[in-house]
Amino acid sequence: MARVYNWQIGRQMSYWYPEARPKKQFAAVFDINKCIACQTCTLACKTTWTSGQGQEYMLWNNVETKPYGSYPLAWDLKLLESLGGQSWRENRYEGQTIFEAAPAGERVLGWKPTSDDYAYPNNGEDDCTGQVDKGAGFSIPHMNWFFYLARICNHCTYPACLAGCPRGSIYKRPDDGIVLLDQGRCRGYQECLRACPYKKSFFNPMVGTGEKCIACFPKIEQGLQPQCFLNCIGKIRLTGFISEPAKASADNPIDYLVHIRKVALPLFPQFGLEPNIYYIPPLHASLPFLNQMFGPGVEAARKTYRSASKDSDLAGLLCLFGSTESIVHRWRREGETVTGMDEKNSTLVRVPLTEPVYIRAAYDPKFQIVRTNCP
Ligand code: SF4
Ligand code: SF4
Repeated sequence: MARVYNWQIGRQMSYWYPEARPKKQFAAVFDINKCIACQTCTLACKTTWTSGQGQEYMLWNNVETKPYGSYPLAWDLKLLESLGGQSWRENRYEGQTIFEAAPAGERVLGWKPTSDDYAYPNNGEDDCTGQVDKGAGFSIPHMNWFFYLARICNHCTYPACLAGCPRGSIYKRPDDGIVLLDQGRCRGYQECLRACPYKKSFFNPMVGTGEKCIACFPKIEQGLQPQCFLNCIGKIRLTGFISEPAKASADNPIDYLVHIRKVALPLFPQFGLEPNIYYIPPLHASLPFLNQMFGPGVEAARKTYRSASKDSDLAGLLCLFGSTESIVHRWRREGETVTGMDEKNSTLVRVPLTEPVYIRAAYDPKFQIVRTNCP
């Protein structure tokens, strides 16, 4: 085991391989508050990548309702239970990561789902934490809540799938940090399934090898956002590249949201993988539940997010979500306009901070019609 630094847990930790960060790290921010669980992302991925035999159950992108939903079944609960106590002292994780808690002779503390665990992708959908009395929904806040969690592979800085693979079939691309599985090397031992705490590596029984999310790398290489991002109805997603905290740059949209404003947080940072999909936590869910899920920064992140209506920079950047099919490498706000730029600083998109509203006249003399949808 090597000693590596994981900034998400604020300390060094043990990992199977030495630290080797890519030149650029693929990353993304998902704004949970905007997800409507339409599953368009799930289908965009499915129709693009997993239409072959043996891939029927593969959801490289899935959206589950928390607290009860999970795919595969109880993916998070099973690991949280076996990991034991997870305590933080301020921003430093004091418990064990899944690498440090690995049983003797194993590289990762993991578990392997059964085929039954993959049989209920919609379990818990739209179930909230308790009974909502008739009419209580109109008198928020009430004590019951749920939220939608969209998940893809996190293209982790310290991937457990990679550490767990005895064949060296999984690799992390040095150019963009995307984690890929070489099916030519894979012998179907399924150790990546066991090792990945997020259960985002799958096994194809028809082919006899593992398969996983590839972050739509053919699109990334052309400067385009992945399919599940491009098709997101709620415009909750922003693709980009993240820097290490000391190299964070305010004009990099991911750096700004994660490192500078700290409004977007990693999923289960205590597992120790330094995952690279970041979430703006939901405003109206239980704080202890969210602290376990996203670490100790939730309260501050929610406070910052709540202030966005009085914070033109933050509100402006949030307006860039879902505004272009290209990857926004840099951004700036000037007055009421937010601009997204590519790697060469060329303008990709301009978005107004306030959406203009046009009220059409009821009578249209050109077409000689009366519109019934006008005030
Ligand atoms: S989320 Fe799982 S499959 Fe994806 S890189 Fe991390 S460990 Fe590997
Ligand atoms: S497409 Fe967007 S809004 Fe719809 S479920 Fe997926 S992440 Fe949520």
